[in-house]
Amino acid sequence: MPTRGLLISSLERELARDTGGREEVAVLFIDLDNFKLVNDSLGHHSGDELLREMARRIRNCAADGDLVSRFGGDELVILHPHASLGSEGTLGNKVLTAMAEPIQIAGREVVTSVSIGVAICAPGAQSAEQLLRNADTALYAAKNRGRNRMERFNEELHARAARRLRIESDLRVALREEQLHVHYQPQVNLATGHLVGVEALARWRHPELGAVSPAEFIAVAENSGLIHELGRQVLLSACRQLAEWVAAVPGRPLSMTVNISPRQLDDPGFITELQRIIEQTGVRPSSLCMELTESALMNPETDIVDMLERIRRMGVYVAIDDFGTGHSSLARLRDLPVEVLKIDRSFIDGLTIEPGDTAIVSSILSLAFAMGKHVIAEGVERVEQAVALRGMGCRVAQGFLFSPAVAPVLIQPMLAHPLWQPSANWRMRSAVCPDAHARRAHRAFIDEFLDHIGVPMWVKANAGS
Ligand code: C2E
Ligand code: CA
Ligand code: CA
Repeated sequence: MPTRGLLISSLERELARDTGGREEVAVLFIDLDNFKLVNDSLGHHSGDELLREMARRIRNCAADGDLVSRFGGDELVILHPHASLGSEGTLGNKVLTAMAEPIQIAGREVVTSVSIGVAICAPGAQSAEQLLRNADTALYAAKNRGRNRMERFNEELHARAARRLRIESDLRVALREEQLHVHYQPQVNLATGHLVGVEALARWRHPELGAVSPAEFIAVAENSGLIHELGRQVLLSACRQLAEWVAAVPGRPLSMTVNISPRQLDDPGFITELQRIIEQTGVRPSSLCMELTESALMNPETDIVDMLERIRRMGVYVAIDDFGTGHSSLARLRDLPVEVLKIDRSFIDGLTIEPGDTAIVSSILSLAFAMGKHVIAEGVERVEQAVALRGMGCRVAQGFLFSPAVAPVLIQPMLAHPLWQPSANWRMRSAVCPDAHARRAHRAFIDEFLDHIGVPMWVKANAGS
């Protein structure tokens, strides 16, 4: 099969051709979805066979004059030099259909799919290298948008790829120089009003771009392998912080929840690292909780159960984050060594408004009680939600109603008081309160809530719990 070198020289030749503006030159970057999975489960020999069959099918789709080449690994490229009237799109769709047919490999029927990135230009408009890079960018988008699909390169994809690249290289520097910091969001016991724990959330203030959202830089870190170092730094900061607070307010139970990316659990060294950080900082393992998203835990292909069991054996808790959004199988839930379910914000949003959401929250709570698991409700923004949750027996909640994630100095004063108290700052200026009227209402809500939970009998009855 032609390789990269031949592809590039042919592409250069086509781009130098004069077509009189009638035709364009298209490049289709084709990548097998989940190739690693086939390789790992059926062996390399089967992987090679799969690639050969893929190449055969793609060659069958190609028209006269097209060049199908192997770009490397499981990536094939079709050079389609006579594109007109959207023929490159037709070609791509043909490939998607051809690859959807099951393939016989090692006596087994394997169903695979491909993702395709398309870039096109008039001869002379771009260099071979640029066109290939654009097709690769489009391929990345096709993978990101769920695989088994075709995406075309456009300027917006280009801008996003450039930003991603910049975030990645700057994040590398930020990690080396330890520029990331951690904020903490309080978790409140709805029955007693005690501040019972905090969730550690990574924050990054970029010197030029300003605050970059964790949703953005965590994704970049996961795709680039930087997540291991990032996760280590967050875990270490969180444990140091917890040790400091425990020393400042001895005897006060406080738990620390840390988000863990499933990528981190791919690395067996994670357990040793966790152990080392616990020893180094002296925190009690039972005051730590590792949060993993439901979608990560429900993926039956990764051997995550073994890692979780090792974490549990150390005495550290495990929570399922964003519970309710990740297609849980109840059987899997039963078998996972997990103690805490965090009800996803999207269900809390509609609580007391949407009967469907209220039903979901109440069934998650009954399920959790029946299985002996703890529940934390996240994204509680309104007092009605907190009151409803408390009525349903949910003990712990976090959300903007109580506090956003804040710098550690703002947590310190909350620890001094047995009951959760809104920080002075938070009473006055809240993200959920855009104007003065709403701010007053929020304040009244908070006072009402404090009245609710402030009944001394409650506090006495639950003292120490
Ligand atoms: P998450 O774990 O679901 O964290 C909760 C997110 O919801 C946080 O956003 C938090 O600030 C926000 N939030 C909390 N209360 C409310 C509320 O009442 N209303 C609304 N609308 N939002 C609320 P943030 O900090 O932007 O984090 C986004 C995601 O980034 C996190 O979602 C988590 O998946 C990830 N992340 C953050 N830090 C880390 C980290 O250190 N490691 C890993 N692996 N992931 C992290
Ligand atoms: Ca979380
Ligand atoms: Ca969450």
